Order: sequence, then structure tokens, then C-alpha cells
Amino acid sequence: MEEVRVRFPPSPTGYLHIGGARTALFNWIFAKKHNGKLILRIEDTDEERSTQASIDGIIDGLQWLGLDWDEGPYFQTEFTHDHVAAANRLLASGHAYKCFCTKEELERKRETALAEKKREAGYDGTCRHLSAEQVREKEEQGIPSVIRFKVPERQGTLFYDDEVLGHIERAYSEIEDFVIVRSNGKPLYLLCNVVDDIRDRITHVIRGQDHMTNTTRQVLLYEALQAKIPAFAHMPLTLDLQKRKISKRSHGEVVAVQFYREKGFIPWALCNFLCLLGWNPGTDQEFFSREELIDVFSLSRMSRVNSVFNYKPGDPKFFTDPKLIAMNEHYLRTMDLAQLGGLVRKELETENLWDPAYETTKLDWYLATLGLIRDRFHTLKDFTTAGRAYFSDQYAIDPKPLAKNVLKFPELATWLPQLAERFATLDTFNTEETERISRELADELQIKPGTLINGMRTVLTGQLAGPSMFDIVTTLGREKVVARLNDVDRLFAAA
Ligand code: GLU
Repeated sequence: MEEVRVRFPPSPTGYLHIGGARTALFNWIFAKKHNGKLILRIEDTDEERSTQASIDGIIDGLQWLGLDWDEGPYFQTEFTHDHVAAANRLLASGHAYKCFCTKEELERKRETALAEKKREAGYDGTCRHLSAEQVREKEEQGIPSVIRFKVPERQGTLFYDDEVLGHIERAYSEIEDFVIVRSNGKPLYLLCNVVDDIRDRITHVIRGQDHMTNTTRQVLLYEALQAKIPAFAHMPLTLDLQKRKISKRSHGEVVAVQFYREKGFIPWALCNFLCLLGWNPGTDQEFFSREELIDVFSLSRMSRVNSVFNYKPGDPKFFTDPKLIAMNEHYLRTMDLAQLGGLVRKELETENLWDPAYETTKLDWYLATLGLIRDRFHTLKDFTTAGRAYFSDQYAIDPKPLAKNVLKFPELATWLPQLAERFATLDTFNTEETERISRELADELQIKPGTLINGMRTVLTGQLAGPSMFDIVTTLGREKVVARLNDVDRLFAAA
């Protein structure tokens, strides 16, 4: 059977958008599912808008998401020779012609056509029938020309079978003779994209529905270039709650993959969320491992209607789609600890909190600690903010529990050091014993154990809530616990 070859061909004119990432993801899954190849092609022919920063951002973003490719990155500008050669072939075979109409002429004709309410306001074909003699004359006069594709004068409709949308038809009469090479000699996207797909032996073009108007014209190019037409699959678009296409201009950073990286998202959580935008497995299952997704994915389960990115700007509780936040939390809490350890390591390194012993002698402690504290966390950032006290002695105390659990009880300034003293001399420093001794002290002092425990939690972790107190105590270890409890004075002094 023919090898499946798909491609992700971004134009490097901005950051990697979550819509682009979704396209890459579907192509990646499709390639993996069919033991095929994914080709990364940077379509950098728009010299004015393409930037190196954008190329780097796209590559970094794909790597961060774990979407690896098998060939490339190829750069479209390196194949200009192929694009020009194809245009010349089309000219020679009579599938294209030189058009000398000026911009002003075209504009005038368009306005007249519109005024006369003609259905098609496209190019009227003036230069289509120029004789070789006429063309030569115009060229000799130095009149600039573009190259236009000669849409066949056929009755009826052009059609192709879309893998998502089914049978797609378009009347030939609605397709104008489109430009394939500009007057400065530069071939246009429609042509370059097809020539590259032919050269890269692409079997399936999986892209957004916004490209459908290109597809009909591109089918004509394949025919004229006598190449096999690939299968097309047009995916639904992703819109916001107001049914607007999501874009940086309207929505800001929240549509950039980089945003999720900076906010501490787990890359696969973002992929899992994106795969459900416009595709469904036909069951209630929402969480998929890579292997599961590759196994169950099919283009036929792709939705025909647009999907919704449920983001309300200005809602501080939800800085992105709440479903994405919930998915991230799910992965954070359930993922393999060793894998989580690798992701948290990067966060700790960025904050200078990484201890190389977490890889060796303290590995067990490191993973157990992540397992203990992750339950209430939303993103990887929480390990170095809310969870900082586990990795450093320099951590902030949240003002809310400070007021409520510490400053409200000035006697804690002596109670906590008293507790520290008992901890210091305890034979076995484990959860049962530390709990027993804490309750014993509360009894002796005739106070609620909660007063001591809540005070302790605030002092030891800086947080209002968290794991079970005595698990915290044993995780931090005797030395740190004793030192921090003895240091409680500092909090009263600073208040
Ligand atoms: N460079 C085009 C884009 O980024 C590629 C479209 C396609 O998939 O053919 O939209």
C-alpha cells in the first residue's frame, strides 16, 4: 500500500497559534496511525511577513507539544526554482497564460461587473485569447505581466470527495482565471503549495475549512500538472463564544501555544484538549493517552460544524477555557510521577530551586513530595509558588492564613517553639508520633488541636490549605520543621 504522507506547512508570520497546533496534532496522529510520515514545511515565501523569530517559535512550540516530524523542516523559499519551472510548464502546455491587464484596468472592470450585478466579478479573460504574436509585441513594449491559470471552459462542476465533509462541488463558471505568478516573477502560494505537496508526495492534505476556496483551484493545478490529487480533509474552525474566529488580535496571548507553556501547562493536556475541538471519539471518553488517541482517531469522526473555544476575556477565574484548566489539573494529579518529575524539574531549575540530588539520593523524596502536594495544584507553576516551601527555606507566607491562623493567636509565639522542642526529642519522627505529640501539647495547653495545627501549617508551608499536616511534617523532615517552628517570632515581628 502507498505510504501515508501528511504535512504541516505553517507560514511563519506569527507565533504558533492553538488552531495551528491543532492542525499539526491531527496530522501527527494521522501519520502515526497509518505508520506514515509527517513533513514539516515552513512556507516562508511571504518575505515581508516571514520572520526568523516566528520560525523558531513554531519549531519550539511543536517540540514542546511533543509533535515530532519525520522530514524537514523544509523551507519553501529553497524551492523557488521548482515553482517557477511548474509555472513555465503550465504556460507551455497551454494551462496558463500571460496577462498584461493593469491593476487599474482590473479594478475598473470589477466595478463595472459589480454595477451590472454580474454573478462573478472575477477576471473576464481579456488576455486569455491573445495570440503568440500579441504576447510578443506586449513583451517587447516592456509591459509587465502576471501568469494566470486558464480554468478549463467546462460545463458543470468540479468536485472532490472531502474526507470530512463528503462530496464538494463548485461550478467551473464560478472559478476565475487566478494568478499563479506575480508580475515581479514571484510564484504565489496556491501554486507553491501544490508544487511542494507533489514533490513531497503528500497523500492527505488535512487543514482548516478556511482553505476550501483554495482547494478547488488547487485541484485544477494538480490536474494540469498531471499529478495525483491527494485526499483532502477540511477541519472545522474554532470560534469563540461570539462565533468569531479566534485570533491574537481579538483574544490576545491566550490563543498562542507559548502562553500555555509559560503558564505551566502539561503539553499533552493541551493536545488532549485540542483534539476534542472538532473531533469526538463517539464515546464519553475525554482523556486519551497518545497511544489511545492514535488508536481511536479517524477523520470520519471529525465534526462538520465549528468548535467553540470557551474563553471569556476578563474573567479572572478562568484565564483560558475552563475545560482546558480542568484537563491540566487532571493530568497533573494522575500522571506518572517520574514523568511529572521531569516537568517540575524544569520549573525548579528556572527558579534556581533544583537540587541535583533529586535525581540521585533524594529521588524518592522528590517524587513522593510531588505526589503529596500535587492534588490541589492547577499548573506546573504551583510547584514553585504554592509549593515553594518544600524546595526552599525562602518562601512567602500568604497574608490570609497569616492573619487568620497565626497573628490572631499571639501565644503561638511560645506554643510553636514548645512543639518544636518536643519534635526535636521525639524517638521516632513519623506521622503518627508527630500527630500524637501535637495533640498531647494542645491538651496540656487546653487549646483546640486545630489552633496548633493551622498555625503550624501556615508557618511551615505559607499556605492556607494543603495535604494532611503530619504528612507535611514528615516530608519536610525534623530539621526543617523544628527550625521553622522556632522561627515563628519572625512572623510576629514582621506584622
Ligand atoms: N501556509 C498555509 C497556512 O499556514 C498552509 C495551508 C495548507 O495547509 O495548505 O495557512
